Amino acid sequence: MSNTENKIEDKNICAKCGGACCKKSGCGYLVSDFPSFTYPDIKAKIDEGNISIKAVLYKKSINDKLKKILVLKARSIDKGIVDLFSASSQCKMLTAKGCSYSLEDRPSLGAILKPAQNMHCALSEKIQLENLQGWIKHQYVLEKLVKTYTGKHVDIVYREQFIKECANVLAKIKLLRGNINKLTIADQEILDTINSMSEEMYYELKDANKIAEETISNILSKHQ
Ligand code: SF4
Ligand code: SF4
Repeated sequence: MSNTENKIEDKNICAKCGGACCKKSGCGYLVSDFPSFTYPDIKAKIDEGNISIKAVLYKKSINDKLKKILVLKARSIDKGIVDLFSASSQCKMLTAKGCSYSLEDRPSLGAILKPAQNMHCALSEKIQLENLQGWIKHQYVLEKLVKTYTGKHVDIVYREQFIKECANVLAKIKLLRGNINKLTIADQEILDTINSMSEEMYYELKDANKIAEETISNILSKHQ
């Protein structure tokens, strides 16, 4: 899809690591990975089945309101097209031999990640910020796609997915009697989000707590 400029590959290091970054989540695209960013062209790419729309939360400064920026990423296993907020899971394109995409076709944020021996491979904040800024002018197309695929406004879909994922983790915590060390890494990440967004998403978290309590009482009533 895009060229190989700035893309790096070190199959030896990644083979030794076993694809830790790809097991965590599908990597992200840059806007420049797409030769055309019109609604029909992006829809055709998404309809091939390997791309999801995700929401990244961004704050310009501490006192600023959180803003959702829609981006495109490689789809993760069992995730849908509109995957705005969810616990992270392995990329669909990861195989026993590594990434099934050629370096040229690999999403740029995965392909510019420099493999490191200690597996501490991370993109700089500068790159992440520049990438987010690049997506801002394409929000209209992405919001329209969310509406096409779900029939709902992006804010409603985000709210629904946020409540569902948080309720799931809150129910697990209750079942584990508060022992959060037994949560998976993906669930712990959702818990971190719950803790960091307790003010912004106060009402959504209240709903999530209610659903978690209903889930637990349903489980308990089946075992009585
Ligand atoms: S880029 Fe880093 S984390 Fe990802 S597979 Fe390669 S060595 Fe592992
Ligand atoms: S597209 Fe390839 S490099 Fe990116 S997360 Fe998936 S398997 Fe890894």
